[in-house]
Amino acid sequence: MAIWPFIFLKDKSLKNDTILLNHEKIHLRQQIELIWFAFFIVYFIEFLIKLIIYKKPKLAYFNLSFEREAYQNEHNLNYLRHRKFWTVFKYL
Ligand SMILES: [Zn+2]
Repeated sequence: MAIWPFIFLKDKSLKNDTILLNHEKIHLRQQIELIWFAFFIVYFIEFLIKLIIYKKPKLAYFNLSFEREAYQNEHNLNYLRHRKFWTVFKYL
């Protein structure tokens, strides 16, 4: 879980998981772009909308624009170097 400026891990062994860390770093960048607090408001509102659409919390979660961007790019460790500002909105 990422809450700027920190990344919280369930287990210390995950600190070497570069894919997971890249995923969470993408969320940190999204939070900075949305001035941190707005990120959580937008994330929560989008979650409610997606929950209405998809009916299941897990499906709603995986279809959030923030998660779609992070999951689709977590394997690209150079992604954040080339990512453009507010790219997350392409995943709406
Ligand atoms: Zn995520």
